[in-house]
Amino acid sequence: MSKSKKFETNAIRTQVPRTPLREHSVPLYMTSSFVFDDAEQARALFADEIPGNIYTRFSNPNNTEFVEKMCLLEGAEDGIATASGMSAVFTSMAALLKSGDHLLVSRSVFGSTHQILTMILPKWGITHSYADIDKPKEWEALIQKNTKMIFIETPSNPALDIIDLEWIGALAKEHNIILNVDNAFSTPYLQQPISFGADIVIHSGTKFLDGQGRTIGGVIVGRKDLIKDIRFFARHSGPSLSPFNAWILSKSLETLSVRMERHSENAMKLAQYLEKHSEIEMVKYPFLTSHPQYHLAKKQMKLGGGIVTFVVKGGIDRGRTFLNSLQMLSHTANLGDTRSIATHPASTTHSKLSEAERVAVGILPGLIRISVGLEHIDDIIADVEQALEQSK
Ligand SMILES: *Cc1c(COP(=O)(O)O)cnc(C)c1O
Repeated sequence: MSKSKKFETNAIRTQVPRTPLREHSVPLYMTSSFVFDDAEQARALFADEIPGNIYTRFSNPNNTEFVEKMCLLEGAEDGIATASGMSAVFTSMAALLKSGDHLLVSRSVFGSTHQILTMILPKWGITHSYADIDKPKEWEALIQKNTKMIFIETPSNPALDIIDLEWIGALAKEHNIILNVDNAFSTPYLQQPISFGADIVIHSGTKFLDGQGRTIGGVIVGRKDLIKDIRFFARHSGPSLSPFNAWILSKSLETLSVRMERHSENAMKLAQYLEKHSEIEMVKYPFLTSHPQYHLAKKQMKLGGGIVTFVVKGGIDRGRTFLNSLQMLSHTANLGDTRSIATHPASTTHSKLSEAERVAVGILPGLIRISVGLEHIDDIIADVEQALEQSK
């Protein structure tokens, strides 16, 4: 497929060449290695003189197809698939940074990303500073001579704060810093950071890309020269995605556009319902006009996405009773599933942060995050309604 085709078409029609059996859908290539024609071909493959598969840690047709699709959907030159979202985060940092380098990071990032920044990278002398999403003026002052990468998430998890991608893209370019964006919450269907100047986009494929809560996977796409270094690092350190998971992820991308439309439609309806409810203290959703950055969200996102956060009156105790009262919504740690999921970030996904760190990124003690699924919206609201009633 090509750049001239539309998003939906590329998500469906990008396919590795068919085998002589002429299968319509791509088969699963469960093989660790590939047979050489002769000694000369083996030599040329290892010397990178000709394209082709050698060994699945390096490449595999299922991974290639998944990555090619993601490159087209994100508007990226090249990419590699990884075993999880976290291996995408870590590999993109470890491959491009060296001892003495510094990262500038939006304060609200995924819990394990915070652990990598604070507990793992410092072992190799790689430091970071956190910048506040709502204080863009302070970012420039935090840039140091050795700042090599800016890493952000927008919308943030779980506060759903928005960073102006056009502004941050220009800032990174001006200072010649690599801009790395974790786009897992939006997926390329809602937002394409590379079009605003991002150099690298990473994903947890586990979330909306798979979309059915069945797979762990990740992907890194971006500038060719940077991916070349990342590919070298990954080829030898081995965070490769299994062909089976790549097959699932590539298949899942075929329905990404319709799923994101419905996730966003359901989330918007739930947010509007909660906004009117007398037992709700606060509700946040990027496409609600009450969101402090509503106009910015509208500017850079196609739709508001599948995540809604809110605080129930009665604080943390009421929040916990609310979670325990849910009958249909799942109480689990994933997001981006067909099944709606409710989570209490302060005691689960972000429990490793201190209370002060949580407050700084908008994680109030009673905050509840709902990943709005694809069940009928009436049933989702009915369950939330009865849980609000039960927890009074
Ligand atoms: C889940 C998630 C990750 C980590 O992905 P895994 O696939 O669980 O390793 C990273 N960033 C964001 C924004 C996520 O939601």
